[in-house]
Amino acid sequence: NASRTPNNPSVYALDRQYVFHSWSVQRTLDPLVIAGGAGCELWDYDGRRYLDFSSQLVNTNIGHQHPKVVAAIQAQAAQLTTIAPSTANWQRGEAARRIIDWSPEGFAKVFFTNAGADAVENAIRMARLYTGRDKVLSAYRSYHGNTGAAIVATGDPRRLPNEYARGHVHFFNPYLYRSEFHAQTPEEECERALHHLRRIITLEGPGQIAALLLETVPGTAGILVPPPGYLQGVRALADEFGIVLILDEVMCGFGRTGQRLALDHYGVTPDLITFAKGVNSGYVPAGGVVISQPIANYFEDRYFPGGLTYSGHPLAMAAIVATLDAMTEENMVENAARIGAEVLGPGLAALAEQHACVGEVRGLGLFWAIELVNEREHKTPLTAAAMQRIKNALLQRGLLPFIADNRIHVAPPLVVTAAQVQQALATYDEVLTETAQS
Ligand code: PLP
Repeated sequence: NASRTPNNPSVYALDRQYVFHSWSVQRTLDPLVIAGGAGCELWDYDGRRYLDFSSQLVNTNIGHQHPKVVAAIQAQAAQLTTIAPSTANWQRGEAARRIIDWSPEGFAKVFFTNAGADAVENAIRMARLYTGRDKVLSAYRSYHGNTGAAIVATGDPRRLPNEYARGHVHFFNPYLYRSEFHAQTPEEECERALHHLRRIITLEGPGQIAALLLETVPGTAGILVPPPGYLQGVRALADEFGIVLILDEVMCGFGRTGQRLALDHYGVTPDLITFAKGVNSGYVPAGGVVISQPIANYFEDRYFPGGLTYSGHPLAMAAIVATLDAMTEENMVENAARIGAEVLGPGLAALAEQHACVGEVRGLGLFWAIELVNEREHKTPLTAAAMQRIKNALLQRGLLPFIADNRIHVAPPLVVTAAQVQQALATYDEVLTETAQS
């Protein structure tokens, strides 16, 4: 029986026969078989090892199988594996308290969800109820999750206060390398992007806009580190027009950028923060919304029409508590900042100098993108076929990458060592050399 004696071919065959995968044409799939992992490493059933420079979907911030988090999940499983969200649960309270401690001043409560998408859904719901307005402005270059229709499709009356899949308006966020504003400098990009956003707000009717929703550092869209002053400018626009500012920290939060939250780099305080992924490294699915005091006050005396069966699931909560404690005890955020500034950032800059196919490298902490182009002058993105060859070549050399469009995203677990980063840099170097020759 294949399920009792797993090996690479049997696990692969089982997957291909029965598993329906996300974001894929099923027939073209070729999933990597993974048997186990520890820290920054993963391995398959044949003993082949991979250095994980993706942190999966940029979520295993503390690395694989952290013993303290595994033990905390086991202990919680032995005590109480599941409980309704309406109960009071010790680990849920401890998790919420820690998340408030990790947030800037002025945040009061945490609403737990199962993941990032439903965190964003609920933040939007709160902003709409709080402002009595409808529209949500978000950036073209962003990713906020893959739900939206479930409650509108719901037939029972819980649908009625939630028919929200409407009123979405998009704007261009800053991206100097491919500036929509013909900007030449970060200052110009910042000023023009803010002018553009002000125009959109004015033309969409400020009195109808509930929320401005942005990733603090857009991740999947290309690690688009905002220029100095941009997020402060967005905060000022939100204040001027009475709009709720939601910063999405699902991917960039919890140490990824070398600060506790990415917003700590900018000194900007939003009204709502969405989180998931790194909060417990995805050991058990969890996400949520951190709610500022005024919005928390608003719901003290008003009904909140939202909820999930597994909101604040004890196993997920125990994983959050243990993860945040391990991150603090083992100085993981500091490690991310130091390795990013001293090893990874300079190493990637050197790669950009050596390889004509590197259009730009950008990032901070352990959150970087290598943007690959055919030639630098026209910035033509490398094709999907070329990127697939690069991905295969990296895997062959034992490096598990995160590839998005024409970019390699470099996002190892925060426990990565300087030696592991050097090893990865040498692998990127080899593969980019090979790419230039092909
Ligand atoms: N927000 C951001 C910034 C994300 O990067 C993601 C996922 O990549 C999401 C939301 C959605 O999270 P999930 O896939 O956990 O629903």
